[in-house]
Amino acid sequence: MPETLKRELHDATAQVRSLLQDLLYLGVREIDLPEMPRDLPACPPQVRGVDEGGVALCRHETLDEIRSELEDCRRCSLCQGRKNIVFGVGNPHARLVFVGEAPGREEDEKGEPFVGEAGRLLDRILFAMGMQREEVYICNVEKCRPPGNRDPNPEEIAACEPYLKRQLAAIRPQLIVALGKFAAQTLLRDETPIGRLRGKWREYEGIPLMPTYHPAFLLRNPAEKRAVWEDMKQVLARLREKPEAKA
Ligand code: URA
Repeated sequence: MPETLKRELHDATAQVRSLLQDLLYLGVREIDLPEMPRDLPACPPQVRGVDEGGVALCRHETLDEIRSELEDCRRCSLCQGRKNIVFGVGNPHARLVFVGEAPGREEDEKGEPFVGEAGRLLDRILFAMGMQREEVYICNVEKCRPPGNRDPNPEEIAACEPYLKRQLAAIRPQLIVALGKFAAQTLLRDETPIGRLRGKWREYEGIPLMPTYHPAFLLRNPAEKRAVWEDMKQVLARLREKPEAKA
């Protein structure tokens, strides 16, 4: 067998082994795929304005419109050190949105959220849930990388939060998962530590929200993966209650 093929086979086997180990760690013994509709309904029309005939129009703004308004954002000092704005990825009509904290080095390089080590763990959690990145939407509270991956400060959060709120209003998901303290505390306006918030349903503007630990925290505290899996089982159960429609 050629050397390159051997190496590819070896890498693929190592990846499968590590994925299975993670699933075992999460307490997954079998994977039961949820009934997810493949043809999601289009976002109902709405933008404020007037059509050619003078009739008032109202539709939700789109994610593209929100992204273009951000342009080369200079609303806080994080713009000075960033390479790319990390707006969000996924299905603009997603039933489920994951909100993280802020881009790290790899996310800043690629302009995409959760593509580093924490992102690979998030992919595994999604896999265990029977989902793929493309069917959910993933974004952060902060759209730019804080230098050295420090915590975002209140001014930076205040500058960026309106865009997160508009993203959520544009998507109007059925459920939100807040990954970690910054996402949960920002969206809920609640300073309670994430260890006490996690695992209990809350509401963000009428949308059920599940706070859970951040994947980066799980990388440092793998024993907590089990807790996150319990939280994700609650999310799956709730999605199954209303499999078909987004209102
Ligand atoms: N951590 C986050 O909170 N978001 C990312 O996009 C990457 C790491």
